[in-house]
Amino acid sequence: MKKLLCVLSVLCGFHSARALDRQAFTFTDYDLKIKVTPATQSFEAEGKVTLRNDTPQPQRNPVLQISSTLAWNSIAIAGKPVQYLAETYTSDIDHTGALSEAIITLPQPVLPQGTVEIELSYGGKIPQDATRLTRIDIPAERAARSDWDQIGEAFTGMRGIGYVAWYPIATEAVSLSDGNQVFETAEAWKRRQAQTKFSAHVCAGEYATAPPAQGLIANVAWGGPVGVSHIGPPGAYTMCTTFAWRPLGLTVPIFAIGDYRSLNQAAMAIRYVAGHESYARRWATAGEKIAPFIAQWFGPRKQPVQIVELPNKDMAPFEAGSVLFTPLVSGQENDIQVVLAHQFAHATLQSPRLWIDEGLAHFAQALEREQQEGRAAALAYMDERLPPLQEAEKEFLPAAPGKVVDPPPQGQSLIEAGDEVFFRTKAMFVWWMLRDMVGDDALERAIRAYRPEQDRDASYFQRLLAAQFHRDLEWFFDDWVYRDRGLPEFHITEVYPRKLIPEDWSVTVAVENSGEAGAEVPIAVRAAQGEERKRLEVRAHEKASVRIPIPVLPKQAVVNDGSVPAFEMDNNSAEISTPEVSQ
Ligand SMILES: [Zn+2]
Repeated sequence: MKKLLCVLSVLCGFHSARALDRQAFTFTDYDLKIKVTPATQSFEAEGKVTLRNDTPQPQRNPVLQISSTLAWNSIAIAGKPVQYLAETYTSDIDHTGALSEAIITLPQPVLPQGTVEIELSYGGKIPQDATRLTRIDIPAERAARSDWDQIGEAFTGMRGIGYVAWYPIATEAVSLSDGNQVFETAEAWKRRQAQTKFSAHVCAGEYATAPPAQGLIANVAWGGPVGVSHIGPPGAYTMCTTFAWRPLGLTVPIFAIGDYRSLNQAAMAIRYVAGHESYARRWATAGEKIAPFIAQWFGPRKQPVQIVELPNKDMAPFEAGSVLFTPLVSGQENDIQVVLAHQFAHATLQSPRLWIDEGLAHFAQALEREQQEGRAAALAYMDERLPPLQEAEKEFLPAAPGKVVDPPPQGQSLIEAGDEVFFRTKAMFVWWMLRDMVGDDALERAIRAYRPEQDRDASYFQRLLAAQFHRDLEWFFDDWVYRDRGLPEFHITEVYPRKLIPEDWSVTVAVENSGEAGAEVPIAVRAAQGEERKRLEVRAHEKASVRIPIPVLPKQAVVNDGSVPAFEMDNNSAEISTPEVSQ
């Protein structure tokens, strides 16, 4: 097939002739008509895409990629078919691990900043497929939980870039076995297409009985109303709606089709599978309970949180902005509240910076955990997420106290991090540390003053905070946000207990930080009952000490309660030998 196409095409030898630039064009406008037939898993699309040449050279060869289970039917410009070479292109950007790629030869080159409108038609089937995961030895069952996209009679779920190429894209090949490539490529695509207009008229059919009007949904607040109509042979129904994003922003278009019902409240809109109303009510109750707390921290909500149920309890939840696709069946009330805290934060505050956007949403979850069962529970929640961060930062780990890592590693600063462990986990810790340093009031006021449209340079948030809290935080932002300096590594070097008159003690605790990142860390002196705490700033490769009075016999000194992410979390205590005990 490939050979035959090549014979027919002027593109023979194309690849060797000159390098193909898959990123020459930005997709500025999608206008698609889509027909999905759940009973046969079939997908048909036709419509137009507009491409803009964003290179300084004229370009003749735009590339269009769709999922490998789909095939190109026709590609035309102004009604005239254009020549193209259709090939399978291996890439893990799609769940099948491959794309159907069309390399087009335009009759005339597109000049720099010029555009071309391409008419296209493609189709095929979209069954559930996790080839890209199973071929790197992820067990089939686990792989299917993550790659759940499919067209199916019971459920259709279609996530765009990074899952199923159901609308045309153009990307360089990526592999899941190559670090974070797939995720980063999807993120780069989103950023590049943020101004893109995207409209899809989606119809689903043919049903023997009338489907519910809520049965076809997308992650867009202004998707048109779903119309259900009777078409074709007796007993065949179809439902249609138009989803439009103008512009897309950082959203990835997603749609789902199923036997959905809706539960709408002021704070939340829930689409649940018929028969699951009691579960939906449990989520709605949890949402109502946390809404005031999130508003106190992040300000008034800008849009309702949208929840779309995934019908199988093993399907991995997926978030797209304030929309969450998740099973509703399992989960304790506390867990549901912690999950929802994340989406409520997104529905309230959006940022073009991932460490703010996602970092704050994760921080909201830790705050909610603290509301439920106190600080220790919140720290335990964060600590569960720490090991991958320690692993990601380990190149900064000094061989021994007093040693420096030479040459200094490059790392990934939070402001440009594309790796989730940074912009989610590390950012969550950074927000928590800031809160411990400046206090709830100052941080809440700075967060509520945040305006995404004014966030034009990396130090914007630091300035908002400086207006509320008048102490130098430059060193902290330098070590944790503007640069990657790994994690601190604390140990207690000396403990001096001193007896005061009559009963009281004073304990001086000296701490060394052998890491490359400084932090303000809690120090505790513990007795048989109770403890006293102070906070101590220990910059990178420095020692600092603090004197802590305690009214009873001190037993143990502890640095770091878990609120500062460090390399080692279980070497942080020293026993105190007091004169009474040792004599
Ligand atoms: Zn999120």
